[in-house]
Amino acid sequence: MATHKIAIQGVAGAFHDIAARRYFGATKGDTVEIVECETFDQVCEAVTNNTATAGMMAIENTIAGSILPNYALLQTYNLSVIGETYVRIQHNLLALPGQTIPDIHTVQAHPMALLQCRDFFAKYPHIHVEEAFDTAGIAKKIRNENLSGLAAIAGYLAADLYKLDTLAEGLESNKQNFTRFLAISRTANHLSREYNKASIGFRVSHTSGSLADALSIFKRNHINLTKIQSIPVIGVPYEYTIHVDMLWEDVSDFEQALREFKPEALELKVYGVYKEGEKNIDLTTKHTISVTEQDPEDPQEVLATAKKHADGEMVVPEWQKWIKPAQKTPKEYLVISGPCSAETEEQVLETARRIAATGKASVYRAGIWKPRTRAGGFEGHGIKALPWLQKAKEETGLMMAVEVATAQHVEDCLKHGIDILWIGARTTGNPFSVQEIADAARGTDVGMMVKNPISPDLELWIGAMERVYRVGINKLIGIHRGFSTHEKSKFRNNPTWAIPMQFRERLPNMPLINDPSHITGKRALLAEVAQKALDIGMNGFIIESHIDPDNAWTDASQQVTPEALRDMLDALVWQPAYGAVTHDDTSKLDTLRSAIDRLDAEFMELLAARMNIVREIGEYKKHNKMDVLQPARWEDIMQKRLAQGGKLGLGDTFVKDLFADIHKESVSIQQ
Ligand code: PEP
Ligand code: MN
Repeated sequence: MATHKIAIQGVAGAFHDIAARRYFGATKGDTVEIVECETFDQVCEAVTNNTATAGMMAIENTIAGSILPNYALLQTYNLSVIGETYVRIQHNLLALPGQTIPDIHTVQAHPMALLQCRDFFAKYPHIHVEEAFDTAGIAKKIRNENLSGLAAIAGYLAADLYKLDTLAEGLESNKQNFTRFLAISRTANHLSREYNKASIGFRVSHTSGSLADALSIFKRNHINLTKIQSIPVIGVPYEYTIHVDMLWEDVSDFEQALREFKPEALELKVYGVYKEGEKNIDLTTKHTISVTEQDPEDPQEVLATAKKHADGEMVVPEWQKWIKPAQKTPKEYLVISGPCSAETEEQVLETARRIAATGKASVYRAGIWKPRTRAGGFEGHGIKALPWLQKAKEETGLMMAVEVATAQHVEDCLKHGIDILWIGARTTGNPFSVQEIADAARGTDVGMMVKNPISPDLELWIGAMERVYRVGINKLIGIHRGFSTHEKSKFRNNPTWAIPMQFRERLPNMPLINDPSHITGKRALLAEVAQKALDIGMNGFIIESHIDPDNAWTDASQQVTPEALRDMLDALVWQPAYGAVTHDDTSKLDTLRSAIDRLDAEFMELLAARMNIVREIGEYKKHNKMDVLQPARWEDIMQKRLAQGGKLGLGDTFVKDLFADIHKESVSIQQ
């Protein structure tokens, strides 16, 4: 157990702090104390004069490139590199607790951070963007001076240390944003098998080929050069020092290479030998951090925060704000169509052309990776088929939608200009996968659709939508595709209409479309289900279509030709969507009346379903020689219904009379 006093440029909570804790705090029990410095020069000074035990210094970033002045510091100070660590730079928006994005009028951050988050702030024109010297320093200032309305851009550690709320995560557009940090110390590591990396600096004479000759020594000795950087020698124009980082598998190779290299190089300096740092792991993960003077967590506050997240209202734009309605479908409704799977380039293009010709759809769908219940079937062409969709998009102007199940799928789709991704029913049920997909899409402008999970679980469905929403994606749409059930039914997946209706109640502004193809599994039943979806006020459809449905490689029996789709859509009764905002008073009354009609129809069906169960209970009672009348049970029902009615604002007498009538009917059925 040791305490490391680590000098960094900037304040506690900065990415340098994250790097320092990560590297020096990695040994269990070790604690890290930050020595805040204003400049990198002061960091080197602090290490040199023993104010700090070591320092942590950024040396290169995957977006901004090499930090040349810090290479120069390695030359100037007599310090050694003893290690390295890579940190993923995730910019979060931080502000005093209790505020939301609309409360923020100004953000202050380092120009580089602002640049990396430009796309994010373009979405919030009301936020005034101001350049500042130090990103985490602003977080500290907000806390110390209690500044509401001002936000900082910093990592998770700053939020923890300064007790700020994270209003949005991952503001940076490019997620491949990693910084390499060097641990520097007064004392060097001694070369041993423990180390596999070195940083050296040298100059070579100005004769032709001298640099290439010198470097070939490393090649001969199986040393892998991971970085070569020329650094101008200050005060001597056009003279450069060459900085090289290298890796080896066998330490004796490095010793041999160095022996051969020494006579060739001028002014060779080995900055240090060390262990290569881990890359490509999720470096945003928190490590145990010891923060002094932190209040014990207030359980009330923890509960309140948890509740806030659970009830997190998703504010999403109407789909028409980002998808152009189709010419020949009522503009209140979205239609997405295309084949179950992309089979051949010809099939993809021809289907798209014929769908576009109907004027009925805005978006084209095609499966690129196909989830199959059993192995051995056609599982999709994968990335090879994405360019076919790009072509279809260019030719028809339709937006393109593809099902994704992994981070890699997301990346591949984004690279190929796919506009909308959807999470399939088999994936929605797995929060790990949903989170992986969401993280891969974080910070992009892509649209996302989330199908209901296979199991009739509303929470799982909403939870998946929330995961996507919370990475900053608000172009969201839900898809109702039915549920797997044990009972036999005429449908491939039971629609269980109550679930999409509850979905609508919970997320009133979330566009919700119906997938009659995967509900029915049979083209003959499509119209019936599609009509029902319109009747309960869904916002449109995703329906599979194919130029040669019977010979489709997947889901043949449920696909229709684009022309058959057009005819089916034409035969539907397109009600004004329930809850649709209309500014015309007469059509408003019509809208409300048809909403009543739809709800009454639903109510009657529920009553019928209830009476069917009553009948089954009757059989049971008869079989077990029980009385039809069970007063205790009846009293219990009445009490519970009255209580629920009270909560819903229904009058006691009304609820009592209603259930008395229902009870009368139930008893007579059972008798
Ligand atoms: C599909 O849309 O082709 C598909 C596989 O759907 P689901 O996820 O609903 O089964
Ligand atoms: Mn399908």
